[in-house]
Amino acid sequence: MDIEQFRKAGYNAIDRICDYYYNLQSMPVKSSVSPGYLAQHIPTNPPEQGEPWQQILDDYTEHIIPGLTHWQHPSFYGYFPTACSFPGILADLLASSTPNPGFNWSCSPACTELEALMMDWAADLLGLHKEFFNSSNKGGGVIQTTASDSALVAVVAARSRYQRLHPDVLFKDLIIYTTTQTHSLGLKAGLILGIGVRAIEVDAHDKYALRGSTLRKTLEDDAADGKHPFILIATLGTTSSGASDNMPEIRNIAKDYPSLWIHVDAAWAGVVFSCPEYRDKLYHTDINEMATSFCTNFHKWGLVNFDCSAFWVRDRSLLTEALDITPPFLRTKEGDSGQVVDYRNWHLALGRRFRSLKMWFVFRTYGVDGFQGYIRRCIGLNTLFQEKINETSSLLELVTTPSLSLSVIRISPAALSPSSSSSDSTDLSTQDFMNTLNQTFYSRLSARNDIFLTQTILNGAFCIRFSIGAELTTEDDICRAVDTLIEEAKNVVEELRVKNDKTEQSIANGSVSAGV
Ligand SMILES: *Cc1c(COP(=O)(O)O)cnc(C)c1O
Repeated sequence: MDIEQFRKAGYNAIDRICDYYYNLQSMPVKSSVSPGYLAQHIPTNPPEQGEPWQQILDDYTEHIIPGLTHWQHPSFYGYFPTACSFPGILADLLASSTPNPGFNWSCSPACTELEALMMDWAADLLGLHKEFFNSSNKGGGVIQTTASDSALVAVVAARSRYQRLHPDVLFKDLIIYTTTQTHSLGLKAGLILGIGVRAIEVDAHDKYALRGSTLRKTLEDDAADGKHPFILIATLGTTSSGASDNMPEIRNIAKDYPSLWIHVDAAWAGVVFSCPEYRDKLYHTDINEMATSFCTNFHKWGLVNFDCSAFWVRDRSLLTEALDITPPFLRTKEGDSGQVVDYRNWHLALGRRFRSLKMWFVFRTYGVDGFQGYIRRCIGLNTLFQEKINETSSLLELVTTPSLSLSVIRISPAALSPSSSSSDSTDLSTQDFMNTLNQTFYSRLSARNDIFLTQTILNGAFCIRFSIGAELTTEDDICRAVDTLIEEAKNVVEELRVKNDKTEQSIANGSVSAGV
């Protein structure tokens, strides 16, 4: 492909992207292909001769798009949103036109300097403590691939600090603290590093928050047991339900344990700090004062295309002391003089993409105002969702207090009472029964391709998560989604009623046999 062919092909590709976005709403949100579908369309070897661009692009449209689940679709409510904005797409395009591995400042000074500046813009947007700014020359921010990488970097740095402070402690006695609601990134870090993980039990009664008293007791028990907890991964906005650990209480305990690193994983919820009205409610001050490191993903609910996990530390030397490898061929006079940041020493890999360009384009295109507007709009849509669920007069219920743009629902036990209480209501309200019923509800929803939802289990109860974040989602989409939920819930309840009636009839006819 020469430059002029690239120009034409590029215009053509952008046209395809526009067509995709024009049609997105009318496409099924979920792919319905079967496993292995693609091998039927793609040969087993690369072509001997180069192929025309048009044919390649046509095959993309014909074979790849049907195999995509559309995370930007207005009816995508699964997992968490994955950001994609037009300025982000363009930034990625430009960044990929000048690839360079960016491990040292001198690899391409603009890449390092823009990243340092953008992480400061982001810190400013979220109102982070001055120490987290790169301009403080003390702490600083760096873009990691995902929140899992951010947590892993935090654990590696925390381990290194702990071993420097306590050189006599045996490796086998080190332990990572998470809670039972922490994302699996905690376990993953433990697995990778061969370090034990203690998932501290939290429960519904405390709204799934880690409480200070529980933390203190666990710390004391472990100390008595010869264990050495060196990091706590605390969460702001858990994956299951959007719950948050009790940061003021944790802060209070952490004062007595200065060598315990506190990493705050706010992968999804952290961007809400861009709206000052949410800061107090979500422990902004405590996090600012206490966190050794803080992470939020701009690639989730923050309009910057995947990937862009923002990770800040209060003290950058904690990263470089753990991760600095400088063989002779990586030495530069700027690095040696300490005038510049060499980001290779702030993460696990060596090379890194030029991701800050996406942040720059997105922040400038939306402005703080536009960014806040997007966050507030999503939260507003969730408020509408809650109102609509409450209007289903006990067919559906919210299982926990909704968190920002995330709600957790299920068919309510109350939905069953009128028809079924007549029969010998075989534990209709028991957890197992409700779980089976809600699993059926979820299977029905999953079989549809006009809505995408994911499941979770809270305190033993099977529930369905409803997570809002696609930029295209409107109030109409929310109303339609609630109608779909009502329709399927009614089907499930009706099926159950018919089944119960039949059983009652059989009992009346004496035809019921053992095992039915
Ligand atoms: C999504 C999420 C993660 C995982 O994020 P990755 O960037 O995919 O690693 C971790 N923690 C929380 C709280 C999350 O919401």
